[in-house]
Amino acid sequence: MNIQVRLLSLIVAGLVTCELPAAQPPNILFIMSDDHAAHAISAYGSRVNTTPSLDRLGKEGMRFDRCFAVNSICTPSRATILTGKYSHINGTPVFNRFDGSQPTVAKYLQAAGYHTGMIGKWHLGSDPTGFDSWTILPGQGLYFDPAFLDVHGRRVIKGYVTGIITDLALDFLRERPKDKPFFLMCHHKAPHRSWEPEPKYRNSFAARKIPEPTTLRDDYETRSDAIKECQQKVFTDLTRRDLKLTPPADLEGPARNAWLGVKPTEVETVIDGVSKKLTGAALDAWKYQRYMQDYLACIQSVDDSVGRLLEYLDTEKLATNTIVIYTSDQGFFLGDHGLYDKRFMYEPSIRMPFLVRWPGHIQPGTVQTALAINPDFAPTFMDAAGLKVPDDMQGVSLIPLFLGKKPENWRTGFYYRYYHDPGDHNTRAHYGLRAETHKLIYFWKKDQWEMFNLLTDPDEMHNLYSEPAQQETVKALKAELYRLKKELKDEDQFADKQPPAGVDGQR
Ligand code: CA
Repeated sequence: MNIQVRLLSLIVAGLVTCELPAAQPPNILFIMSDDHAAHAISAYGSRVNTTPSLDRLGKEGMRFDRCFAVNSICTPSRATILTGKYSHINGTPVFNRFDGSQPTVAKYLQAAGYHTGMIGKWHLGSDPTGFDSWTILPGQGLYFDPAFLDVHGRRVIKGYVTGIITDLALDFLRERPKDKPFFLMCHHKAPHRSWEPEPKYRNSFAARKIPEPTTLRDDYETRSDAIKECQQKVFTDLTRRDLKLTPPADLEGPARNAWLGVKPTEVETVIDGVSKKLTGAALDAWKYQRYMQDYLACIQSVDDSVGRLLEYLDTEKLATNTIVIYTSDQGFFLGDHGLYDKRFMYEPSIRMPFLVRWPGHIQPGTVQTALAINPDFAPTFMDAAGLKVPDDMQGVSLIPLFLGKKPENWRTGFYYRYYHDPGDHNTRAHYGLRAETHKLIYFWKKDQWEMFNLLTDPDEMHNLYSEPAQQETVKALKAELYRLKKELKDEDQFADKQPPAGVDGQR
């Protein structure tokens, strides 16, 4: 049954809304990278790199400036995007196995006649469901000569992971049935730690001096113990492996791994042709540069990938009826607050880049400032396809925002919750409210609070929670926090959920 007949039958059955697009429902190309902060995209005003293909999406489409993850870590964000539900409802609060038997947007679209595909990093611990075709990295996957899994088993593909994922995505598009709309999730591994770039980009970034963020040497005054005791700090927690230091030639196996796992307090390196021993402040500054050079170099390959995919849509005359989205599963600290990684509810971590192009529907070069969250993605895809958004999805469709029509009752804040404690970085569990102008965070295992005024303190440096003059604001924020918690049915189902040991190597 072709898509038109299929949709007609669903309309007759009352299962889809009557606001169907007149033409064939749009294709959806969803490109997501891993840990790509918006402030490493020039369309978002990056001071540290340029991304011409991503910028093209912004010029030809809409840039969301306030799109956020509701649990800022890889696996939970992916589960939320698929289900339109928070972690406590979809059962994936940490790196645990996603229950693929539950409804997902891929299944709904597939049932409505879409040809569905999933290529790249999956990291949900179970086989993909709801996809006509899938090829995924096992666990985190490798940057070079990665293995992939599909319904036939495991195979190694020689080359660099970002280019390979792009090739596989293009294969999916070329081989798809042409009488159906497609829904393709193209998920890059890059720029996830351990930040291993293609040699050409590693070389081009090796001599760059990356501007430092103003909060790189944050002293955490007024803040909770959580940020002080976390182990995701650029100056003290990057390992020799992260910094790409070369082990002694005679070290092998576990001894070599142990050497690479050390967080160095002095480093011998060659600067301007002279060997130097770096310690203290000089070493701190060098670590930031080393980290950022590789992180940014990885992103250049992602930008190339987006360029290739857009070019294919142009060549095949598919651009007009295809919604293209670029996002990342969360943001990332680029030395902000002295940190790398994500997890915390601070802006650089929870903010997702979100660029979307839909010719004829989205006004080119526009900026959207309404609050969007990753539970909104699945409802958006449903709505774009002309399908009714299931009542149990907790997000709402972003399509009105795409069209420049912000509904009057649009959200003025959202609930956030992070569980992975102590996890890999000794980062404390917390939940909170991100409102239009303020943020309230509760580290429940420590019974410590933080409150920030985002208008006067966008860098979140001054915790106002205990200030007498702020108590009315704190009270109002708490009321809204608990209202949302109740509305979203977060009854502390996973309050004591511990991260499972050893997840790499799973699907
Ligand atoms: Ca991630």
